Amino acid sequence: MLLIPCPNCGPRDETEFHYGGQAHVPYPENPYELSDTEWSRYLFYRENPKGIFAERWVHSTGCRQWFNMLRDTVSYDIQAVYPMGVPRPAAPVPPAADTGTASTGPASTTPSAPAPPRKERPSDFPERPPGNRRPHRPHHFLALHR
Ligand SMILES: [Zn+2]
Repeated sequence: MLLIPCPNCGPRDETEFHYGGQAHVPYPENPYELSDTEWSRYLFYRENPKGIFAERWVHSTGCRQWFNMLRDTVSYDIQAVYPMGVPRPAAPVPPAADTGTASTGPASTTPSAPAPPRKERPSDFPERPPGNRRPHRPHHFLALHR
């Protein structure tokens, strides 16, 4: 089981979190101009690296806040945890030779060095275009508030 360092609550068991997929997938700037192929690439095509991967997590049973995490998909080592909307920190340089031993050191919770600025929306969380927003209400809301 992973011990995930929530930026708000500190280290907690993996069971308190939900995985949110790849981080830094910006909403298309001109969504109405996208072809079906471009939409499908935005919606369904994700990286699947063997190594460091930037992904989104939410602390579902804790502070309920989303954050980004750099995690090694091979060793499960957590390299960095950082807020939504912050550019991906530079990944640490992998070791030159594989010694065959797994890393047992504590996972770092701070980004090492800031990555060069990327052209990205302020928030990398997908948003609906304006005018297409509806407040979330439970199904029984209208029955109770007529
Ligand atoms: Zn939390």
